[in-house]
Amino acid sequence: MITGNLTRVRRRIEQAAARCGRDPASVRLLAVSKTISAESVKEAIDAGIRLLGENYIQEAREKIDALMGNLASWHFIGHLQTNKARFAVELFDLIHSVDSLKLARELDKQARRQNKVQPILIQVNIAEEKSKSGITEQAAPQLIREVSRCENLSVRGLMTMPPFFNAPEKVRPYFKALRQLASRIAAMNIDGVTMMELSMGMTGDFEVAVEEGATIVRVGTAIFGERQ
Ligand SMILES: *Cc1c(COP(=O)(O)O)cnc(C)c1O
Repeated sequence: MITGNLTRVRRRIEQAAARCGRDPASVRLLAVSKTISAESVKEAIDAGIRLLGENYIQEAREKIDALMGNLASWHFIGHLQTNKARFAVELFDLIHSVDSLKLARELDKQARRQNKVQPILIQVNIAEEKSKSGITEQAAPQLIREVSRCENLSVRGLMTMPPFFNAPEKVRPYFKALRQLASRIAAMNIDGVTMMELSMGMTGDFEVAVEEGATIVRVGTAIFGERQ
């Protein structure tokens, strides 16, 4: 099932890229494996998945241990508490969900201890929903200026979780707003900051996200099936 699902998701990404003249290789597929067993994740890796996304530190650690030796890169996409920063730096190649200076400074400190420069994305709450994490669009440039002074962090771009709609077209304005925000920040030419990555799009809306410039789409259900 997973192999067939992956083939279909990849084809849909390619078609969305073709519709807007993008090279499909400029879009990376991140398989979101929260609540999914290590066996199923292994199946996805065997079917060619190289990027995996997890939301919870403890769950991720067990899976990463179980799958050690497999050719995969793990990204953290969940809400991160400051007291888990050390483990996030130990385990993940990219942290998508940095949304405060306090969290950034703790990640910076832990990265320094681990002799690592930690790549991160800034999570933006583009619709300003009360229920969601993320910095507001308005406050993002200033946060990024401050985070850029953290020597052991490397800001690579932005991530968002837009409101949920049954119609993916309704999400398009939020993806567009994230892309425009990334362009404005790129134009600020902040030392050590790049806006190479736009992490946006999930099972319900990843094609629209590709059309609006996503470089990483985070897809769970369409690959692994409904979560328990
Ligand atoms: C769970 C999750 C996803 C994947 O959601 P699906 O709808 O299953 O594709 C993507 N991003 C984040 C941050 C998530 O928590």
